[in-house]
Amino acid sequence: MGSFRRTSFGLKQAVRPEIEKVFASRLVDHIREHDFGLDLGPVQLRLPRSFGLCHGVERAIQLAHETRLRWPEARLFLTDEIVHNPAVNRRLQALGYRYLGGRYADGATLDQLGPADVVVLPAFGVETTLLEALRERGVQLVDTTCGEVMAVWKRVREYAREGCTTVIHGAPRHQETRATVSRADHDDPFLPQPLGRAGAWMVVRDLDDAKALARFVAGRFDDDGFRAYFDGCLSPGFDPAVDLQRIGIANQTTMLARETLQVQEILRLAYVARYGELEAAARVRLADTVCSATQDRQDALRELLDEPLDLLLVVGGYNSANTTHLVELAHAQGLAAFHIEGVECLGDRRTLRHWDAQARGEVPAQDWWPARSPARIGIAAGASTPDARIGEVVLRLAELAGIVVQDLPSATARTAASHEALRLTIREEHSWARASRTSSR
Ligand code: SF4
Repeated sequence: MGSFRRTSFGLKQAVRPEIEKVFASRLVDHIREHDFGLDLGPVQLRLPRSFGLCHGVERAIQLAHETRLRWPEARLFLTDEIVHNPAVNRRLQALGYRYLGGRYADGATLDQLGPADVVVLPAFGVETTLLEALRERGVQLVDTTCGEVMAVWKRVREYAREGCTTVIHGAPRHQETRATVSRADHDDPFLPQPLGRAGAWMVVRDLDDAKALARFVAGRFDDDGFRAYFDGCLSPGFDPAVDLQRIGIANQTTMLARETLQVQEILRLAYVARYGELEAAARVRLADTVCSATQDRQDALRELLDEPLDLLLVVGGYNSANTTHLVELAHAQGLAAFHIEGVECLGDRRTLRHWDAQARGEVPAQDWWPARSPARIGIAAGASTPDARIGEVVLRLAELAGIVVQDLPSATARTAASHEALRLTIREEHSWARASRTSSR
């Protein structure tokens, strides 16, 4: 019989030095400690007051490292990416983790697993059917699902018990959304109370979807049209005439907070128009489940966008939802902003490679370096981006600005003590970044 664990193995101190060596950045610490800016003369860097790794991702990374130490000889597997950042997943591959699905899958399958194997579940959780299948294999399970995601599961299960259909504002194919809706219609063998009754669910991607749902509530959309519009976003056997009588709204934890509130308001007003204020209050339950880390990073970026920036680089995995939303925030303000996965995207001052949400792929951009001097460049990062990746970008920008990296301290306007600290940092970071880039090829 396999085991199931959600908490630390008590090896936190043992794995901490290795994690810091790989993922921390003294350069980024320095920037944090100096009002989130670095004045390099020809380029001024500004970072938001909240960026990079969140508590949920830090915990997942730590548990994955502890698991390696706890079972040094066992075969280790992940169901999919542990978080949406390539640097983190490559690191776990280097520790010996193999992937059962997703971008890093290497052919390992469920039916090859047995009680001697260890499977780590990702920070955004897995669907209940997969969890059940893993339990049947008798493997040792280590669950890194973030508490903020589990809070949404709790809410969704409450909706189901109360006979409300869960309406999730999220990306229908995102692992977190799939894991969450599965808690509405299936039992989770590792949650304390049984679900009791299966609930219906649907996924609303954006404001257009919310308006389409509102049109149905208003009687301006027939059942078949509704099913066709929301194909792939409905629970099996979904009957809109029945299942939309009472709804409970929640959202993927990493959505744009402002959009989530708009979705809620569109739906609430649709029910008010149909049933009146009093009855609508009984038919529509609301919950804002954007996580605190996502909210903090969006708020901090909004504050940074009030400053006169020439350009924003957002560092994070291309499939990281919270990262893409940071880029959207900047674009909404008309700022030139590029979503890059890391330093390897920064070619030279003429070209870079970045994620294009419209094209759904990586594309080149030309003449991206700001014409103004000094250039004011913002750097933001999603909740799964380690500081080390941000530090590499800072160093590359310095190089592109024509600064000899070892001379950086004299180009800053910091105190002599800070300069000395930064001098050490830059030397170490620079050699680390080079070594890291070489080893990841
Ligand atoms: S982004 Fe939010 S929900 Fe996701 S792991 Fe971080 S804290 Fe948890």
